[in-house]
Amino acid sequence: LNMATTFQAISIILVVLQKGAVSFEKILKFIGRQETKRSDFGYIPRIPIKGEIVFKDVGFQYNSRKDDHSTLQNINISVKEGGITFLVGKSGSGKSTIGSLLLRLYKLEKGTIYLDGYDIEKVDKYWLRDQICFVQQFSPIFEGSIRENIVLGTADVDRLDDAINKACLNELVHSLPHGLDTIIGKSEDSFQPSGGEKQRIALARCFLRDSPVLILDESMSAIDISQRKRLMKTIRNCRQGKTTIIISHETSEIDDADEVYLIDEGEIKEYGLKEELRTKKGFFEKMESYGFQAEKKEQRPLTLLDKS
Ligand code: ADP
Ligand code: MG
Repeated sequence: LNMATTFQAISIILVVLQKGAVSFEKILKFIGRQETKRSDFGYIPRIPIKGEIVFKDVGFQYNSRKDDHSTLQNINISVKEGGITFLVGKSGSGKSTIGSLLLRLYKLEKGTIYLDGYDIEKVDKYWLRDQICFVQQFSPIFEGSIRENIVLGTADVDRLDDAINKACLNELVHSLPHGLDTIIGKSEDSFQPSGGEKQRIALARCFLRDSPVLILDESMSAIDISQRKRLMKTIRNCRQGKTTIIISHETSEIDDADEVYLIDEGEIKEYGLKEELRTKKGFFEKMESYGFQAEKKEQRPLTLLDKS
């Protein structure tokens, strides 16, 4: 099995099943079956891509929800090579759906999505998914070693140390007697990673894969502020030749964005370039009116005694 395929299939299974419990073995068997159908006979660009993304007038509604309000409407987003774009918005505003549409998990109702200028509905679906690394809030962790959980069945492990370092997992790995061979499992004597450690394992998978498009969907929510800062620095340092979309209902990393889109009720309500964010009159105030804290998190530490 090829790593990108394994990884993407796992992400996609997760999107479909959400938090359903599936064993790694079952997933690998499932992927093995999928492997026989590795083309939907769409176009496959020959040159490596830069990951440039354009959403042009995109509209979408889930079939199961035929009420008046579209899930997404008039979505226009553009992410250039090397760009780090933030999609912020309250829970349920449609942010994750934007990621799912980019992976072509659903058919658009209106508009077009382009990857490096190619209409994603015309390119090979499996090729498309190999270009995108979609990390979600609850990434699946399987029974097996930390190494297996990061590498996901590939032999290409040359850059494993680098990925572990980038994902801020060095300290953890060194603190465990069996290091990378530590078994994650359900039994009492096996290692049970915390939410933040699971998220960092998922990020390590992603750094190892190094795909042209990186989508981080609430994927740092359980990671502490100082490690998030380091992760953002790494993401900034590795942004050449790819694009990054960070989805969050918080604004604590917003300083690292090149561009920010505020999504509310399936629409883009505000847009700001990095240099405008601080100065554009009222941007943060507007964010606040959509339910965001205008200040940065660390400036207003929560204490247990906080009664407000
Ligand atoms: P966000 O990521 O901003 O929290 P989502 O994109 O997950 O928002 O969801 C946007 C809207 O679409 C919500 O109202 C949600 O309930 C609905 N939704 C999400 N996934 C599905 C689905 N698979 N089927 C039907 N409705 C969905
Ligand atoms: Mg979401």
